Amino acid sequence: MDKVYIFDTTLRDGEQSPGASMSIEQKIEVAKLLANTGVNIIEAGFPISSPKQYEGVKRIAETVEGSVIAGLARTLEKDITTCYEAVKSASHKRIHTFIATSDIHMTYKLKKTKNEVLKLAIQAVGLAKSMVDDVEFSAEDATRSDWAFLADVYSAVIEAGATTINVPDTVGYTTPDEFAELIRYLLNNVKGIKNVIISVHCHNDLGLATANTLSALKTGARQVEVSVNGIGERAGNASLEEIVMSLRTRKDIFKLDCDIHTENIYHLSKTIVYFTGIPVQPNKAIVGENAFAHEAGIHQDGMIKHRMTYEIMTPQSIGRQKSLLVLGRHSGKHGLKQKLVELGYTVKEEDFKRVYDRFVEVADKKKEVFDEDLHAILEEELNIIPEVFSLVYFSVVTGNKVIPTATVKMRKKSQELQEAATGDGPVDAVYRAIEKITDTPVKLINYSINAVTHGKDALGGVTISVERNGKVYRGYGVATDVIEASAHALLNAINKILNNNIE
Ligand SMILES: [Zn+2]
Repeated sequence: MDKVYIFDTTLRDGEQSPGASMSIEQKIEVAKLLANTGVNIIEAGFPISSPKQYEGVKRIAETVEGSVIAGLARTLEKDITTCYEAVKSASHKRIHTFIATSDIHMTYKLKKTKNEVLKLAIQAVGLAKSMVDDVEFSAEDATRSDWAFLADVYSAVIEAGATTINVPDTVGYTTPDEFAELIRYLLNNVKGIKNVIISVHCHNDLGLATANTLSALKTGARQVEVSVNGIGERAGNASLEEIVMSLRTRKDIFKLDCDIHTENIYHLSKTIVYFTGIPVQPNKAIVGENAFAHEAGIHQDGMIKHRMTYEIMTPQSIGRQKSLLVLGRHSGKHGLKQKLVELGYTVKEEDFKRVYDRFVEVADKKKEVFDEDLHAILEEELNIIPEVFSLVYFSVVTGNKVIPTATVKMRKKSQELQEAATGDGPVDAVYRAIEKITDTPVKLINYSINAVTHGKDALGGVTISVERNGKVYRGYGVATDVIEASAHALLNAINKILNNNIE
């Protein structure tokens, strides 16, 4: 069976989506997970775009093994040399350079002629090739470009040394039939195309990213650019989980294989939700809350008689087990350690104590601690934002006939600070007290709360977005008490602001 190369762009295109910014430590964590999942190429960032992007790509190149590490670069010389500096220490490295080829982009954005664009593409690929063997070229907005010109550009960059040519549907404009026709046209009209990998990069503006990607694979593309949960610019990218599970579930149609260990998919999806604060819709294919839930009576009856009546893949195949009772307060440090290994976490010794204390706190309140609870605790505790402030204690007086009043005590290094405030509700009162102590007023633009597991003693996970000086920051917090979870979420966001954890 032919192999499809999985190129993941969660850390580049995905991280470009509004408010999705991750810390460098989080990016390294994600890159390690992607490598362990069998992703062939990790696009780690766009090094020239900011010092933080550069640092992120460089650290990933230095520490992550098992995948090709790619960086993005325009066709400018300084982009390519900076990209090379960032990826050079990876055992397998790639420079991914791009320039737009559609009339609308060339005329209005680049203000360049076809000839100038062609020249820049050739020069850029040549320069990249002098530094690394593995060079990818993308013709931005390919699906709205003149096909004959596109064929000329690809032929020229292949001659200049490109080993992968990417055909992006940058604005999510194409349809499955049209895209297949374009790939077929390129196969017939690009010189040397048989010696390189054809890649596709589809956006979801019309909800067709997965369909277009699969259609290109049917026609001869062998690399797909995808992101976890489909995050990315605007409506996002084709999602890794949808492409991979389509290939697996319909092997009979696609007759293609890939290296992904699908049992990692659910954990990967959860990690991206926690790190970016971007939730997954409940009916999202593969990883949504309801993706394996059967509600209608007829369906449930069928499922009991034979699972295959309504299930085309199993939740286990993506690492999604039924909630199993895992631990109680008597499980101890050893039990917790073992469970963490089982769940795929590597927790450093210095972090373990924090995780254990948090676990005991939760186990005291809830008696039964499930896998999902542990995921939530870990994602918060390993959120790896250096803590400027930490919560010591809070109390709230509230009711329908009193003005909600909160007292909050927090620690900053060895200093303890306390403030009281009133608000429209208990969460608002706590938030105002926290803003006073940290001297960091923010505008709350989004607040959502989710039960991590089921039942009335379930952990509550709170995700918020706040705005400060025109920038959006996300925060996540988890606790059995929703006000406490809300406080953790705001502190998480404020610690990000104080660490200036965003480009
Ligand atoms: Zn894109």
